Amino acid sequence: MERVLWGLLFWGIGSQFAIAETPVPDANRAYQYLKDVCDIGPRISGTEGMLRQQKMIADHFTKFSAEVRYQEFDVTHPQTGAPVRMKNMIVSWHPDRTERVLVCCHYDTRPFPDQEATAANRAKPFIGANDGGSGVALLMEFAHHMKSINPKLGVDFVFFDGEELVYSKGDKYFHGSEYFATQYRDNPPENFRYVKGVLLDMVADRNLNIYIEKNSYKYAPEVTRSIWETARKLGVREFINRQKYEIRDDHIPLNLIAKIPTCDIIDFDYPYWHKRNDLPAACSGKSMAKVGRVVLAWLDEN
Ligand SMILES: [Zn+2]
Repeated sequence: MERVLWGLLFWGIGSQFAIAETPVPDANRAYQYLKDVCDIGPRISGTEGMLRQQKMIADHFTKFSAEVRYQEFDVTHPQTGAPVRMKNMIVSWHPDRTERVLVCCHYDTRPFPDQEATAANRAKPFIGANDGGSGVALLMEFAHHMKSINPKLGVDFVFFDGEELVYSKGDKYFHGSEYFATQYRDNPPENFRYVKGVLLDMVADRNLNIYIEKNSYKYAPEVTRSIWETARKLGVREFINRQKYEIRDDHIPLNLIAKIPTCDIIDFDYPYWHKRNDLPAACSGKSMAKVGRVVLAWLDEN
């Protein structure tokens, strides 16, 4: 009886130490990346702002010696009917590894703040600090830590374009993730496969509350449970071990078309969702660092 207890105690201490060594993202630097992304202005698919962001992302990850490539395709603009060039960006770490994990976000912003009550406010620009910016900024911060973690799996950061090129009800969502998932299913890569994935969306709210998203639990229960377990071990209490919202997001095509079990880490209790005040002032580097710490530790375990 005593032995068992001592054994458990030491096991507990050991696992605490192991997890304490995982990298801690720099909250100030992550927040600065968020501001840099937002300084571009709106980053709607196919616009000048999106082009500038693509250059920023490519330059950043190239500096860290990651492999950067694009997956390009055209969609029809829902209002003008003109073709819009979409670009998913893929940033690979350890590109030689045959079993890989996806860490993804969308990087386009909504064309206008459609949740505003008045037409005048809906006509104002939408910057998307949390919704579109936070995932990008956190992945930029991750670049500083990829050498300090040692997952067995290769890691691909994927930035999805066209998550919300949406002007009115009925316009299509998830262009980038659906294209990515369909390509993966129909032309499977010969030299690697994705074994799991995590999607980051709205991870910078100053008042961070991340509940288990219902579709993630439904389609990727093991991935989801393991992420919340990592958060528990790290003592990151903003990951709340209860289901709350059911959200359709880029993880749906990944789970259903590509069959890559993927969990959506999303804080849907954000007061400025699709509103003009989704600005850096509503966001926090500390929140980003908390999510980042969990995701990096989780990657390290994989
Ligand atoms: Zn959105």
